[in-house]
Amino acid sequence: MTDQLRLMAVHAHPDDESSKGAATMAKYVSEGVDVLVVTCTGGERGSILNPKLQGDKYIEEHIHEVRKKEMDEAREILGVKQEWLGFVDSGLPEGDPLPPLPEGCFALEDVDKAAGELVKQIRAFRPQVITTYDENGGYPHPDHIMTHKISMVAFDAAGDPERYPEAGEPWTPLKLYYNQGFNRPRTMALHQAMLDRGLESPYGEWLKRWEEFGQRERTLTTHIPCDDFYEIRDKALIAHATQIDPDGGWFRVPMEIQREVWPTEEYELAKSRVDTAIPEDDLFAGIRDNA
Ligand SMILES: [Zn+2]
Repeated sequence: MTDQLRLMAVHAHPDDESSKGAATMAKYVSEGVDVLVVTCTGGERGSILNPKLQGDKYIEEHIHEVRKKEMDEAREILGVKQEWLGFVDSGLPEGDPLPPLPEGCFALEDVDKAAGELVKQIRAFRPQVITTYDENGGYPHPDHIMTHKISMVAFDAAGDPERYPEAGEPWTPLKLYYNQGFNRPRTMALHQAMLDRGLESPYGEWLKRWEEFGQRERTLTTHIPCDDFYEIRDKALIAHATQIDPDGGWFRVPMEIQREVWPTEEYELAKSRVDTAIPEDDLFAGIRDNA
């Protein structure tokens, strides 16, 4: 390896980096790859999802600062760098009919303008590989879908000197991936492994909803072996204390079952400017050899 490898992971909220691709990032960090998490919003409109912290007045009044601190801790646990794009959380609209999105939020920003902020980060960090969400956002949060949109624009524009000339020296990233860690084959395998051992699966409802919505199967092009880093992933997630119940469904599948049944994190190669053979087991396949 003659050139420094750099991986950029674009996420919507603080905590998304710890639930999507965290073990992959920790693995690459351990190999000397430079990893930068770009967080689009401050997560200001996230609810407090940890029942032990609900009703805490200090947290309610200082949610922005609290989530910043949580992110600092997760960043250190994962060993990554992190930058904020500075957009405001749109919140997850709930109700029927859905309420309008709040004024000034990320999802209402102009896509091309917002993408300029990401172009700036790409040109400054110069990643060969970028990860983001698919067109459904992985799950239908307006900020996740917006994250997808600006990533697509920025991936195409960052290397073009005619576009965003004020955003720094052009840099052409080589591969763009969608996080597909919550894929159906994995969920079904873990669900079955729990049942086979007479344990209660946390995935029953999830799989049922999946059937109902009839979501299309994604193409899993890339499987990253990273089970040595599952503990780091969980520690980083728990650092987002307002967002996760440490006794909840997230942590119900014993580590040894996860390792045995599903020791990889999955990605879908969305765009590539290098040749690569599918399936891959390395986000830098086709780049590492030519670096
Ligand atoms: Zn999110």
